[in-house]
Amino acid sequence: MAGMKFDYAPAPESRAIVDIKSSYGLFIGGEFVDSIDGRPFKTISPASEEVLAEVTEAGPQDVDRAIAAARTAFQTTWGPMRPADRAKYLYRIARIVQERSRELAVLESLDNGKPIRESRDVDIPLVAAHFFYYAGWADKLSYAGFGPDPKPLGVAGQVIPWNFPLLMLSWKIAPALAAGNTVVLKPAETTPLTAVVFAEICQQAGLPPGVVNIITGAGDTGRALVEHPGVDKVAFTGSTEVGRMIAKSVAGSPKKITLELGGKAANIIFDDAPIDQAVEGIVNGIFFNQGHVCCAGSRLLVQESVYDEVLTSLKRRLTTLRVGDPLDKNTDIGAINSAAQLERIRELSDAGVAEGAQRWSPPCELPDRGFWFPPTVFTGVSQAHRIAREEIFGPVLSVLTFRTPDEAVEKANNTPYGLSAGVWTDKGSRILAIAGQLRAGVVWANTFNRFDPSSPFGGYKESGYGREGGRHGLEAYLDV
Ligand code: NAP
Ligand code: MG
Repeated sequence: MAGMKFDYAPAPESRAIVDIKSSYGLFIGGEFVDSIDGRPFKTISPASEEVLAEVTEAGPQDVDRAIAAARTAFQTTWGPMRPADRAKYLYRIARIVQERSRELAVLESLDNGKPIRESRDVDIPLVAAHFFYYAGWADKLSYAGFGPDPKPLGVAGQVIPWNFPLLMLSWKIAPALAAGNTVVLKPAETTPLTAVVFAEICQQAGLPPGVVNIITGAGDTGRALVEHPGVDKVAFTGSTEVGRMIAKSVAGSPKKITLELGGKAANIIFDDAPIDQAVEGIVNGIFFNQGHVCCAGSRLLVQESVYDEVLTSLKRRLTTLRVGDPLDKNTDIGAINSAAQLERIRELSDAGVAEGAQRWSPPCELPDRGFWFPPTVFTGVSQAHRIAREEIFGPVLSVLTFRTPDEAVEKANNTPYGLSAGVWTDKGSRILAIAGQLRAGVVWANTFNRFDPSSPFGGYKESGYGREGGRHGLEAYLDV
């Protein structure tokens, strides 16, 4: 029987736990309200193209109203509140997220397309962890290293992307509230639903009205929010292109700003690395969340002497990945988040072939409906190729080689980005030596894509500025 393979039986997670309403208003001043000057739009499941719900695109007057509600809450309830009481609300939110974790995981997978295994085991537990972590800081700000009595900034305008919808919300809202600010947050157009349920959670937690306001919409709503004079702090996660526009619009104003932008991380495999573990790290680095990860290990740098061994082992491993229904508990790779993102992945992959790199994917059947892209590996990639320079934000790995540690560092740093990197080696001294030379905000050693609320995260160069997470993440929301 050696070599015999058993197929996995379908193991669908039930969606009965989520109760999606046919339409949602805007969450302003503690309640769901109809829009004044916006219009409805639909959010779909990228795995089936089924319409999930209609949500509201907030117009300029809606943005005004949300910022006014946040200002009032800052002045009357949240600002003056004892820090220890603010902490209680954050703990309460964290516990409700845990209680409703299955519902949130299923909803996230439906709206975003990511596998339930990831939303259940990574996204939602980390959301709760962020609120727990920052709840602990709320009454200890004077010990955070920012002076004896650091003050909040006021109203934060926050704009987030679609790749980790609820997790990015938690990265933005938890530190802002812990530091005593109030917020207006805009989720991404294609993934608004968990943010809307989060608004319900704020109601359930009895959070005072206006402390958190959620305004759904697309780019125009985001622009109206960040350009609004009533906002004291702008926090943005998204593309470098939009980040640049926001930095320009905020320049010359008193607004404080943090930008978490794109990346093109190097994952460096030295010849003394444990190869089987490294292969798992390569897979996790680029195929986790369909590669829709700003810190994805999208450039694999392999030392020449182990190139054949690594590539053979990697390809064998990729043939075991299961692509398909995000709600199936056996699925490793789900749907691409939108038709537009699929188009971008296709365009860059085609450019890879046109520029002379070799493309490989394991045999895999893709569903007929929805947006799908197979796990893809490019070899024969040179540093000048677009697939080595531009962020693809999909399940596409570009493989390059190196001979010496110096060459590895030089190639790894040869990018306009600087968000993350990975180093795989048996030697602790080499980890420290290489990590110190990499121009990346986060360097993982013998692991990849590990997140913890107590670790700061953020970029160098075109990957943005400011840090989220940890004690450092508080600084962005304090007047220091
Ligand atoms: P994006 O187009 O920049 O969108 C991000 C958010 O900004 C969305 O909510 C978007 O609205 C909104 N937006 C669009 N135009 C705007 C404008 N002119 N003013 C204000 N807001 C505006 O990015 P994306 O393509 O959705 O997300 C992928 C990018 O995000 C990748 O480059 C990735 O690397 C980056 N990212 C970075 C991090 C990090 O922590 N560094 C984390 C995740 C993702 P819509 O709803 O219309 O898109
Ligand atoms: Mg959607």
